[in-house]
This record gives sequence, structure tokens and C-alpha cells, in this order.
Amino acid sequence: MNATKTIGIIGGGQLGLMIAEQAHLLGARVVCLDPAADAPAFAVCDDRIVGRFDDPQAVEELCRRADVVTYEFENVPGDILIPLVERYNIPQGYRPLYDSQDRLREKDNARNNGLLTPRYAAVDDEASLRAAVSSLGLPAVLKTRTLGYDGHGQAVLRSEEDILRALPMLTVPCILEEFVPFDFEASIVMVSDGRQVVSFPVGRNVHRDGILDLCFVPAEMSDELLGRMKQLSAEFMRRCGYEGILAIEYFVRDGEFYFNEMAPRPHNSGHYTIEGCTTNQFRELVRYLLGMPLEEPRLVAPTVMKNILGQDLEEARRIAAEGHEGVYVHIYGKTESRPKRKMGHITFVGMTPERYEREWSDRFVR
Ligand code: AMP
Repeated sequence: MNATKTIGIIGGGQLGLMIAEQAHLLGARVVCLDPAADAPAFAVCDDRIVGRFDDPQAVEELCRRADVVTYEFENVPGDILIPLVERYNIPQGYRPLYDSQDRLREKDNARNNGLLTPRYAAVDDEASLRAAVSSLGLPAVLKTRTLGYDGHGQAVLRSEEDILRALPMLTVPCILEEFVPFDFEASIVMVSDGRQVVSFPVGRNVHRDGILDLCFVPAEMSDELLGRMKQLSAEFMRRCGYEGILAIEYFVRDGEFYFNEMAPRPHNSGHYTIEGCTTNQFRELVRYLLGMPLEEPRLVAPTVMKNILGQDLEEARRIAAEGHEGVYVHIYGKTESRPKRKMGHITFVGMTPERYEREWSDRFVR
């Protein structure tokens, strides 16, 4: 019998928590690194390191205590991770993080590997912004190239006033994108072990204030479009040589889909897979990390996932207490609740968008 393996996770948020839960089900131990002593994953992991993601010693200590290391946090700096990838077992490597950490590089990479993107241009100062506006037209979306702003750092430009108001953003490198009047947003989560790519059913995502609010699965789209999205996404992963987990968000419009962004970690839009599918995104990531063969997921029934932010936490607790068949309430155990902070999610299995709208939507803050 093989000895128990330990998975190291850089980051101890709700993604780390859910990876740890699935790791335990598959017989592995978990060690997490997070700067917050009360990080959600610390409640369930076997070993913990309280330390910063940009502290080389803390990240190396995590690697030392683990047999295999993954990340749930996207902004691990390259100068920390690259030297460790050489010496420790970090099978996803640094490449997918590097490719996703800068929106310009991310979009160039998507285009170079077979995906369509909205039109875009690099913007560094007022002159390049004005040049980009004249070539892309208005409306357009100005975004900072690197993350680290908690989903902020975006402005929709519709007029000259908007342009003037956005100028202060240009203290950091930015990208201007054409505004896509999408029919809907969709995302796909895939796991690859280098031989096989498995993908989870595609959901339709609804955002509110830039934060994912609802995910409806399956997304209502033609078989042709869905087939092409699955095929090109898997092909993208193969061409890039990525292993492990990758989520891609698309804008869907007029029978075509456009790459918006990607994340080489479990994705919020994939939380529904825990109960809505025969295997889930966290479990397949763990299977990959442990060298187990991947399982092809199947949707159990139409499913709706509702994110629970601070303003809906009490209602979520009530729903959990009431007990409804097919309704799974997850509360992440964060000590401080704030209005826009992700505190949990609810998965409704056997639920259509129409029935959700009729029976459940009124229970949450609009
Ligand atoms: P992002 O952080 O790039 O995912 O953007 C957050 C949200 O803003 C997206 O989920 C979209 O709803 C919206 N958005 C971002 N970029 C565009 C775009 N080029 N056109 C239209 N909407 C956008």
C-alpha cells in the first residue's frame, strides 16, 4: 500500500478549504499556507503555515512539508515560485500563472493558441488611450493589466467624460478592450493530466457588481457551439502544455465565444460540481495531484449555484436550517462577514433557471 501523501496548497481561502475536503476523501493529508491565521482552510487542513505568499521561506517551507504542491491563489510571484518549481513537485508549474497574471499577455496567449478574444490594445498613457479609443471605438472597457485589485481596476468608457475620469488609472499599465454586448457569459473548467483533458459541463454565469452571483447549468446553447467550446478549450490547454486545473471565462455572442480570462485554479463557477456532477472540480484536481486517473464528469441534473456574499449570509443560514431536498448550503466559516465578501454558496440540484427565479430569487438581497 502507498504511504499517505501530503498536498501543499498555496492559499487557504474557500478554494483551499474545498480542495482539502476532497483530498481527505481520497486519503491525502493537506498543509496550507495563508497569511491570515483564521483562513477558512485552516479549519480542516492537517498542518498549517501562517505566512505571506511573497515570503520565499514560507513558500519553501510549504514545499518541504508536502509531496505535491498546488495553488488556489493566482498572484504568487514568479521570483518565488520559479526556483521552487525546479526543486519540488509543483506539477502545474509557474507557466499558467505567468500567462494569466497580466491581461495583455493572457489575451495574446489565448489568440496565439486558437481562441478568439475581444479586440484590445495596450494602454500606458493618455496618448495610447486616445489611439486605442479611436481604433476600438466606444464603449470600451479599460482594465489594469495586472490583478491585485480584488476585481477592481476597471472602467467602462462611454464618453469623453468617462475617458477623463479614467485617466488616473493610467499610473499603472492598462489594456483597453472593445465592449462586448454579450448574450451571456459562460465558463468551462477542465483538468488535464497531460494525456487526457476532462471538462465539466458549461454554465451560464451572471455577475453583479463584477462578482459572480449565479451560475446556471447547463448553459442554454446549441450543441454545435458547446461542442466547439469544449474542443477548442481542451485544444488550448494542450497547445499551452498546461496540466492540472484551468478555468476559462467566455463572452458568448451571436453563436460565437470570446475569451475573457482564465484561472489555473478551481473556479467559483465550478462550485456547483460538488453536488451537481458525478465528480467535482476539487476532486479531479486532487486526483491529478495524486497521480490517479481522471474521471469524466457528468451532470446529475440541471443545477443552479448562488453565491452567498455577506449581505445574504443570514438568509443562507436560515435556508440550511429549513432543510430542502437537493439544496446544499456551504458556509466557508470566515470570521468577518462583509457585504461583498464571498461567505458561502448554495447549490440547487434539480433546479431550472425559471424555477429558481420563481421560488428562490426573492429570498436574496437584490
Ligand atoms: P473581468 O474581471 O475581466 O472578468 O470583468 C468582470 C466583468 O466585467 C465580466 O464578467 C463582464 O461582465 C464585464 N466585462 C469585462 N470585460 C468586458 C468587455 N470587454 N465587454 C463587456 N463586458 C465586460
